[in-house]
Amino acid sequence: MFLRLALPTPLRRLFDYAPPADVAEEDVASLRPGQRIAVLFGPRPMVGILIELASHTEVPADKIKPAVAILDSAPVVPDRSLNFYQWAAHYYHHALGDVLQNALPSWLRHADRRDIDTCAGWQLSDAGRSEQALESLGKAYKQIALLQYLQTYNKPLSDQQLVLLGHKRSAMNALHEKGMINPCRLPLDSGLAPEFSPSLSLNDEQSTALNTIQASTGCTLLAGITGSGKTEVYLQAIEAVLRQGKQVLVLIPEIGLTPQTTARFEQRYGRCVRVLHSACSDGDRLDTWLAARDGRAAIVIGTRSAIFTPMAKLGLIVIDEEHDASFKQQDGFRYSARDLAVVRGDMEGASVVLGSATPSFESLANVANGRYRIAKLTQRAGDAHPPLVETVDLRHQPLNNGLSEVGIRAIRDCLQRGQQALVFINRRGYAPVLMCHDCGWYAHCDHCDARMTVHMRPAHMHCHHCYARAGLPNRCPSCRSPQMVLIGQGTERSEEALQGLFPDIEVLRIDRDTTSRKDAMREIIDRVNDGQPRILVGTQMLAKGHHFPKLGVVLILDADGGLFSADFRGPEKMAQLLIQVAGRAGREQQRGIVLIQTHHPDHPQLQLLLQKGYFHFASAQLTLREHMGLPPYRAMAMLRADANNPQAPEQFLQQVLDIGQHIAAGQLQLIGPLPSPMPKRAGKFRAQLVIQAAHKGVLKAFLNHFIPAIEPLRGAAQLNWSLDVDPIDMF
Ligand code: ADP
Ligand code: ZN
Ligand code: ZN
Repeated sequence: MFLRLALPTPLRRLFDYAPPADVAEEDVASLRPGQRIAVLFGPRPMVGILIELASHTEVPADKIKPAVAILDSAPVVPDRSLNFYQWAAHYYHHALGDVLQNALPSWLRHADRRDIDTCAGWQLSDAGRSEQALESLGKAYKQIALLQYLQTYNKPLSDQQLVLLGHKRSAMNALHEKGMINPCRLPLDSGLAPEFSPSLSLNDEQSTALNTIQASTGCTLLAGITGSGKTEVYLQAIEAVLRQGKQVLVLIPEIGLTPQTTARFEQRYGRCVRVLHSACSDGDRLDTWLAARDGRAAIVIGTRSAIFTPMAKLGLIVIDEEHDASFKQQDGFRYSARDLAVVRGDMEGASVVLGSATPSFESLANVANGRYRIAKLTQRAGDAHPPLVETVDLRHQPLNNGLSEVGIRAIRDCLQRGQQALVFINRRGYAPVLMCHDCGWYAHCDHCDARMTVHMRPAHMHCHHCYARAGLPNRCPSCRSPQMVLIGQGTERSEEALQGLFPDIEVLRIDRDTTSRKDAMREIIDRVNDGQPRILVGTQMLAKGHHFPKLGVVLILDADGGLFSADFRGPEKMAQLLIQVAGRAGREQQRGIVLIQTHHPDHPQLQLLLQKGYFHFASAQLTLREHMGLPPYRAMAMLRADANNPQAPEQFLQQVLDIGQHIAAGQLQLIGPLPSPMPKRAGKFRAQLVIQAAHKGVLKAFLNHFIPAIEPLRGAAQLNWSLDVDPIDMF
């Protein structure tokens, strides 16, 4: 018998090993797929996942190596998850080993970590049990609370449970240092049952939506304008599933940016809600993963990668803001968590709800072709009214740092009414271009075909496509002129301009630079929610599901960028961003105002969107895509290559094209090789080849032959290539 393993490498194949020498034959025969096996891959120790036992191997007898050890007595990865991961590996033509690497908690990748059927916990020491212990803690209230709890409960408790009960890790460590508690291993806890708080009574549209979701399994697109009560519909759909004893998986775009969403779930269901986020420790992640796998976690909320969390009794998957680009991983294993959710729901008999105010065109096409059901929410819930949306013609208007007079007046009026204003600008930094007034030189990144963005806090230049940084020159490096000018607007500059115009009002900037610190977003949102008149300036982060009750005016500084994009998805992205940003206005009784500054107020796409709304706009665009033979009406994949050598990527792709054309035999279009829209990035030269097919089946069949044929090609030294099935970004 041989062990056929998936190993964490990018190679699209499995690896055969002999069983470890010290394992008896009958023990080998009882091994099951999903168990972890420690091996040496060349000289490197690795943890593989057993995919099957094979009676035959292609590896010559003198080359086959024994595995080092069998790590688990039972499969860690359940069968149905393994099936799902294999499906994903096939669909994206990606190495199963690397898919597993993405899907499993990193804790499981260490060969020395065998004991996963217990969890970390704390027990009282004799010192901790004594009467004096509490008194000796003085004013350390968190430690006192923890010690008191352990004394009252009088049994060891798991670390995770203590955290769920609101105790702090810092307090646990402090008591440990004082010798009052000791770490121990405990059997996995049985999890906390959901507690249900009362729900709102649904309006007619919401009830219809809930019925549609519950009508049968399968996928429902919940298309509801911002503030229409989508979340309330999710919450009630979830409650019904939890009451049947099943589990729920909720995916949201970015947890750090939307603390309000997780808070709402926790308010509704109590402490049974487990959150997977980037700040989770490896141990927490493993605990949550195991709890979900074994059916002890009722609700798991996470970002993209949480789609891989195994669940014993999955009843429902909710994808909130399903149009959001963050559901697609853009490097390595380029999967779409939204698309995988639909497949997974089907495989595991769970319902799927995709929710958005601005559904992706893919999902709308799937409604049109009958694959998804749709429920629409067209009214704002409660008494809130939709905002008034108007364009501001920028032509011949004097501008103050990009702000029109109409815009400034609207902000002033809104602040005087005691409300808050939001200024949206989709570029962080101070200015996108630093130029010499005398010779036209401008600051360019040495590593990319891109300009350096000027930042003022602190003052420096920074390329947004690689990590290049440079000081700000006070003279032109080319002609020595001191006449350096800053062109264009970024969030920092708008913040400065607004602060100058409204010196008595706090201006809060919200972009990647101000929110990178953990909890920064939560703190900003807390400030906004105190309701004082304020101005928020920020990037698309502001478009993501936030609820700002006091917002009276939204000013979109510049809508023009989105109108003239080279990407065929440009209009879709523009419309989603405009509608999402606009949706932040007027969520309470007062009617909000949205002003869109543009040099092209008559642009037909903008007019269609503003006059007829998102769904009309989408169906017009979809018709266009159908005529032009673009996704979602055709299947697309993209092969990208990059290298240090400027010619290598195109040469490699030319070779690949020849092979592809032979295999395609006229059934598909292969377009390229072409330089990428940004031909040089982070020092690498880049080119791409686009593959288009009439539908996904044809594409899949082609790739099944094509990828194995190009894998052995030896491109130039240091050439990388990658395949992106259903790409959403043409870069
Ligand atoms: P969405 O997720 O569509 O943006 P929310 O679920 O956040 O909308 O709802 C917007 C606001 O309306 C929230 O304050 C919510 O509590 C309230 N709301 C939702 N449904 C109802 C309802 N049926 N009755 C009263 N208020 C509701
Ligand atoms: Zn110059
Ligand atoms: Zn760069």
